[in-house]
This record gives sequence, structure tokens and C-alpha cells, in this order.
Amino acid sequence: MVWLVLSVIGGVLLARSELAQWREAFETDARISHRLLSQRVVQHEAVLATLALLQPTSPPGSADPAEQRLPSVYPQILSVLRRDPVSTWPDTTLPQAEQASRQSHTAVLANVDFTSARGRYQLVLAAQPASYALLIDVYGTVPWSDWPMPVQSSPVRVTLEHAGQVFVVQPGHITGSGWRFEFRKPLASASQPFEVVALRQVRWSELPWGAMVLWVLVVAAALAIWSAWQRQRSARRRAEELLRVGQVARLNTLGELAAGMAHELNQPLTAILANTQAARRLLQDDPPELTTALHAMDQAAAQARRAAEVLGRLRRTVEQPSPAASGQPVDLAQAVRNAIDLLEPECKLRAVVPSVHLAHPVRVLAERVALEQIVHNLLTNALQALDLVPASERQLRIDIASNQGMGVLRVADTGPGIAPETLPHVFQPFFTTREGGLGLGLSLCETLASGMGGQLCAQANEPRGAVFVLTLPLAPAS
Ligand code: ADP
Repeated sequence: MVWLVLSVIGGVLLARSELAQWREAFETDARISHRLLSQRVVQHEAVLATLALLQPTSPPGSADPAEQRLPSVYPQILSVLRRDPVSTWPDTTLPQAEQASRQSHTAVLANVDFTSARGRYQLVLAAQPASYALLIDVYGTVPWSDWPMPVQSSPVRVTLEHAGQVFVVQPGHITGSGWRFEFRKPLASASQPFEVVALRQVRWSELPWGAMVLWVLVVAAALAIWSAWQRQRSARRRAEELLRVGQVARLNTLGELAAGMAHELNQPLTAILANTQAARRLLQDDPPELTTALHAMDQAAAQARRAAEVLGRLRRTVEQPSPAASGQPVDLAQAVRNAIDLLEPECKLRAVVPSVHLAHPVRVLAERVALEQIVHNLLTNALQALDLVPASERQLRIDIASNQGMGVLRVADTGPGIAPETLPHVFQPFFTTREGGLGLGLSLCETLASGMGGQLCAQANEPRGAVFVLTLPLAPAS
């Protein structure tokens, strides 16, 4: 989506800037063409004014050398006509034009013909005693040597328009759909106000597709790099978090191990103590080996007591987490989200999508890391149990609620469940039914839960699977 939006915005901006450049170039060329044509037609007025001022030097009715030389100086002037007091105009429109010129005191157009290949028109100026008319070639009027565009290949169409007649100066290419630029302005001459019309049609195919495709690719590459970086970052975060949880787990497992050892060793130690005390009593009988036996037995008893004390202290330490570490308000849903986040690859691997159901936000008093450790262990166990059933039957549901001053977290799976005869043993240290299992996870979780003033218990899930229910004291409402 982001890629699409950026691609479209970039593409539109590129196209707009290209169009703006074309428009600027078009308007510059059109203005230059208009100026050049205006300069040319103004010359015609100047020529007529000069002729009228000088008047013929030869007698009326005969050719005047100056008039005859004029076309060689101005090639667009095809011929010069003169009406002396003794002669008349060769056609009927010229007298009307002369009449109009006499009234307006300016040159007047006559016989405009833009339909012929080169285009022609006449310009008449009434004067005394002789009036003049110029026959002008439109094509020759265009200053080709200074023309700003290549006439045949330029896409711009330039025409001169007058009273519905159109003379094509430059054909251009006005076809297809796209954008159209237009320039219209009459020539800067009162007597020859032909309208200069320039048109430019930009076709879709002329858009800067190369640059636009390049931009789309650049955006795609940048986004790919960015998302790879994001993925890498979250993988690194997850790895760090796993490491942290792993470290905590290792430490806690060590404690758990010590608790197990204490449990195992306490009995032999008690027996040693009892035996040595009995031996001590026997040695007091007659004949006794008093000094040696007494000394040895005292030593043994002292050793045994010290061992029991060490183990007892170790056990107490494991069972009671430091008061500073417990009792922070923790959002139960957040702890669940963190654990799910960590186990995301495991879930994906098994095609399991954990569903979290939260009636309302629940904050419990707990040690955050210990709580996350418990949730992590419960979810891991559930995933391991789901391994044992077909993928289509795997479901993992987590419910968060509160009940009678306690926050309640239920982790239910649709795995094979726990057999009724095994149920009482799952929290015992070293109890496992898993190949390669240590049997310390649940016992550790139970210890951590009770250390935080809570409870962990296991039940059968309906219709199948297992449910583990963790209860922890609710945090006081702030
Ligand atoms: P481990 O996972 O190393 O076996 P645990 O203390 O986590 O140790 O689990 C002890 C035993 O409890 C497991 O071996 C298994 O038999 C049983 N158990 C735990 N969780 C589940 C569960 N979600 N479904 C079925 N059995 C479970």
C-alpha cells in the first residue's frame, strides 16, 4: 500500500514537472514566433507609408523603377500596384479598400486568400495623388532563418487565422489524447491583425515513463530494504528477549534443582543423624570405646546438621523470591502478548494461532519476569502437547479475567490432555512424560506463582486437552 501511494505520488510529480517544462518551452517558442511575424508585417505598413510619401518619380501610367526594385529587397512583396489619377485598380475590391483607407488614414487589407499553398493578401494605402497596394506572399513573410522551431519535425502546430481562413505555417503533430497547450494572439499590427495560433498536443506516450518506472523501482527497493531492516531488528529483539528469558529460566531451574536435591537429601541426612545418635547411646554402654566413638559420632552428627542447614537455607531462598522483586502491578494481557511474541516462530512452525480473550484489562501484583516465565512455560508446554495431534485439531486459547480479587489466566489447548492418574504429579520436580524433558518447568512455575501469592493448577479441557489456570492477586486500582 505504502509502495503504491509513494509510486503514484512520485509518478504524478515527475509527469507534472515534465509537463511544466514542455509548457514553458512551448510558450517561449510561441511568443518568439508571434514577435517575429509581427515585426515582418509591420514592415509592410512602413513600405506603403514610404511609397505614399515619396510618390512616383516617373509620369503617371508608366512603371516606376523604385517600385519595381522593391520585391528584390522584400521577397514577400510579390508586386506593387499604383493607382494614378489617370488609371484605375485592376479589380473591384481595391477601390473599396482604398475608400476605407482614405477614411481611416491607415493601410487596409484586401483579397485575403489563405487557401492557396503559399497564401496571399493585398494591403492598400490611399494617398494623393497616387494610392498604393502591395501583393504579399504569406509564406514569404515567415522569417524562416530565425524561426525558433524545426518546421517539419516540431510537434507544435502554428497557423495564421483571419475571418475563418487558416494558413498553416507549421503542421506539427496534433493527434491522440493527452494534454493540449494553446497560444492565441493577434499580430501586433493594426492593418494586418491575423491571429497567431500555436497548439501543442502532449501524448500519453510522451510522458517520462523511463524516469517514472525508475522511481517505482527505487521506492520498491527502499521499502524492501526498510522492511528487511525492520524484520532483522525484531528478530534481534526477539533473540535478546529469548536469551533473557532463557537466562532467568536457567537460574530458576538451578534453584529448582537445588530444591529437588534438598528434598532428596533431607531424608538420608535425617537418618544419619538418628543413627549416630543411637550409636552414641550404645557407646555409653559397658564396656564402651568412649573417647574415640564419642568423638567420631559427634563429628558425624555435626556434619549432618550442617548439611541439613545448608540445604534448608538453599530451599528457603528458592521458595521465597526477594520481596523487592515481587508485587509490581503488571498488565496480564501485556505479559501474554510478550510471551506470544517470543513464541511466534514456534507457533508458525506448528500452524497454531493463539487466540487471546480478554473480558477487561487485568492488572496483577507480580514480578514481571517471573510472570512472563510462567506464561512462557505454559505456552511452550501447550505447543509441545499440540505437536501430538493433527494440525487441523490444534487450538490454543488464552483467557484473561478476574475473580474474587484475583487475576485469572487460563491456558487451554486441544492436545492429548493429562491422564487422571498423572494429574497429581505434573507439578512434582523431575516428573516428565516427554522424551528429553526435565520435568522442572511446571514445578518452577508453581514455585514462582506461590512466591507471588498466587496459585497454578491443572485441569482437563473440554472436550479434549489440558487447561492450566494461574491466579495472582489483583493490583489495587490506582
Ligand atoms: P517437561 O516439559 O520438561 O516435561 P514440565 O514440568 O513442564 O516438564 O511438564 C511436566 C509434565 O506435565 C509433562 O511431561 C507433561 O506430561 C505434562 N504436561 C505439561 N503441560 C501439559 C499439557 N499442556 N498437556 C498435556 N500434558 C502436559
